[in-house]
Amino acid sequence: MADYSEMMEGLRKAFKSGVTKSYEWRRKQLEGVLSFLDDNRDKICQALKEDLHKPTLESAVFEIDFTRNDLIETMNNLKDWMKPEKAKRPLLNIMDTAYIQREPYGVALVIGAWNYPIQITVLPVLGALAAGNCVVLKPSEMAASTAKLLEEDLPRYLDKDCVKVVNGGVPETTALLKEKFDYIFYTGNTMVGKIVMKAAAEHLTPVTLELGGKSPVYVDENSDLSLVARRVSWGKLANCGQTCIAPDYVMCKKDIQDRLVEECKKAVDEFYPNTGKCEDYGRIINERHLRRIKKLIDGSGKVALGGEVDEEQKYISPTILTDVKATDPVMQEEIFGPVLPIMSVNSDEEAINYINKGEKPLAMYVFSKDHTVAEKFLQNTSSGGFVFNDTMMHAGLMSLPFGGVGSSGIGSYHGFRTFDTFSHKRAVLERKHGGEAMQSIRYPPYSEKKGSIVSWIMRKSPKKSGLRTLIPYFLFGTIFAVLFKTYGLHNKLPSLH
Ligand code: NAD
Repeated sequence: MADYSEMMEGLRKAFKSGVTKSYEWRRKQLEGVLSFLDDNRDKICQALKEDLHKPTLESAVFEIDFTRNDLIETMNNLKDWMKPEKAKRPLLNIMDTAYIQREPYGVALVIGAWNYPIQITVLPVLGALAAGNCVVLKPSEMAASTAKLLEEDLPRYLDKDCVKVVNGGVPETTALLKEKFDYIFYTGNTMVGKIVMKAAAEHLTPVTLELGGKSPVYVDENSDLSLVARRVSWGKLANCGQTCIAPDYVMCKKDIQDRLVEECKKAVDEFYPNTGKCEDYGRIINERHLRRIKKLIDGSGKVALGGEVDEEQKYISPTILTDVKATDPVMQEEIFGPVLPIMSVNSDEEAINYINKGEKPLAMYVFSKDHTVAEKFLQNTSSGGFVFNDTMMHAGLMSLPFGGVGSSGIGSYHGFRTFDTFSHKRAVLERKHGGEAMQSIRYPPYSEKKGSIVSWIMRKSPKKSGLRTLIPYFLFGTIFAVLFKTYGLHNKLPSLH
């Protein structure tokens, strides 16, 4: 088994030297990531083509530019994000300074999956570097060309003492997980997520787990079915269905199912004319997954569209399954391929009950012209993300947390949250030497009088409505105005960070 103890020792030494903590070092690494993305644009698209037959536009938009935009957001805001965050102070601490200082954890491990092998690896890495950590990146061996590119090219742009790329498979990941990291960020399936979390528990290492699951779609009869079909087909078929937040299956009432299928067929024809030869349509990552998906098609419902499989080309045509039952194989696992099962339900309540019987999904999509339908799903279910009247688009908003809940994941990232994820939030309270006389009420020997003063100062009351809420402000304002005047306190105020 590979031994990474020497590599880890080097990274620890680099982190302990303090070099990663300055703004300048962090900024330089981010500029390095930017140059990596810009200089290697064509090479990245080529590698993704080799691994997944990924259309150049999907590589450019979902992999390179998506990551690049997050990177630019980080670069533009890093100075502000690094600043201490002021914390509210109660009356007892009014003379103190209280703030949250974000500090790097130390050495972080980022383990990536193969389906978006640039976005899923480079985005957490840039967040870890922005937060001042050293990083080990373990790309997925399944996207071999992209992993090789990350191994050979990315380190050339970064501080070699602080960033390492380990290109390997299960044995290498297993060996890495034996080491003590200060943070682990894993993207991949839920089963391996449990292995990662167990390994992390050995060292009490905090984790972010970006996992998967079955993301449902509910289509209400009060919907524009042509619009629904286009938005669902796009989400299902981008990257050949190998997207963690791809709509996994559709639930709708029986009387709209045929019309929905017809609209989906039209959308597929329009998006991917002559699919088998279409440059805009991807391929399945490997034979193992291809056979797995083929079995799901063969054992479930009725093929209403597609169902063609070419093992040599790792090709599965866009496929729609109807008359699907909850017990069919396709409903037992995340499909992660271009297959859309449609299950009929009698009501939105039935759909909600079905969703709630399973694990909490990574994403949920509801279509209707009636907002109360969305409200019903929002109030009565749980999922990592929720989109009303579209699929997958929430991932593009840096202002929204991206992550799962329950078995679809722990933690979230994108934008500021990636930086925040890789930062320990240190609670800092700064006090002055003076004012000891006032402080002595908290020291023993205790007395009833001391107790009642302390509890009066510390006591919190439920919010009151109306003018009564202003009374304490008025009282404290008056007291402080008098203290200010009497002792000239304005000259002794602590400086706030
Ligand atoms: P994968 O096979 O590439 O595995 C992910 C990583 O885990 C790889 O780096 C691999 O080397 C490592 N690994 C695999 N088996 C291991 C083991 N036994 N011990 C230790 N490490 C091991 O990718 P995958 O799991 O097939 O990825 C697809 C899954 O990931 C889907 O479920 C998808 O929904 C999920 N996913 C989630 C997100 C998200 O952001 N939530 C994004 C992409 C993919």
